[in-house]
Amino acid sequence: MVALDGPSGTGKTTVARKLAARLDAGYLDTGAMYRLVALAVLRSGTDPADAAAVAGVARAARLDVGTSPGRPHARLDGEDVGAEIRGAAVTTAVSPVSAVPEVRELLVAEQRRIIAEVLAGTAGIVVEGRDIGTVVAPDAALKVFLTASAEVRASRRGAQDTAAGRGTGAEAARAAVDRRDHLDSTRAASPMRAAEDAVVVDTSDLSIDQVIVALGELAGR
Ligand code: C5P
Repeated sequence: MVALDGPSGTGKTTVARKLAARLDAGYLDTGAMYRLVALAVLRSGTDPADAAAVAGVARAARLDVGTSPGRPHARLDGEDVGAEIRGAAVTTAVSPVSAVPEVRELLVAEQRRIIAEVLAGTAGIVVEGRDIGTVVAPDAALKVFLTASAEVRASRRGAQDTAAGRGTGAEAARAAVDRRDHLDSTRAASPMRAAEDAVVVDTSDLSIDQVIVALGELAGR
């Protein structure tokens, strides 16, 4: 199993999916699970800052994320919401939602269940998130923490948003990335950080393919 953590704009999702395909392994996007809960919170009209109400919504929501690196789906209560969970409203709500301890407890348990299920049937799994190496799977065979400079991350995020037709400009992308990273790394419950035994890879000056080659070597393939 490969644990792949780090902030947004480091190329984490693309790297995780390509690496999983290269290793013939499964793939789990734990961020998609937090995004599904955030969407459920928004749809129910719940205030993302109301921790008790958010926990109730999380308990009731039926989350389903795919584990195939080719085309992972994301469903909420049976509905395919893969595009909607990448939108601005969910991206803004997801950090406060993921800071609620009960939400994390529920999702970490579900993530461990999915990982065990995939590992029972295939050669391995690449799991991406913020706390995989530290909390979800501290025994992972390989832990990687991807970083990149703030400028590079904001410009990658801005380019992704533009490609998805929701471009807001470089300044806004930078502010949004900074805000989310700050919330994710300063929250009380499992803040984002590199595990002590993680290999830290700075992707600022690397192409996706260069990162894949480096990680493939670390994974012994
Ligand atoms: O990776 P992605 O940008 O989709 O993650 C969305 C959000 O979900 C993060 O900003 C963070 O608040 C939360 N998250 C988390 N723990 C994880 C994965 C994501 O708290 N393992």
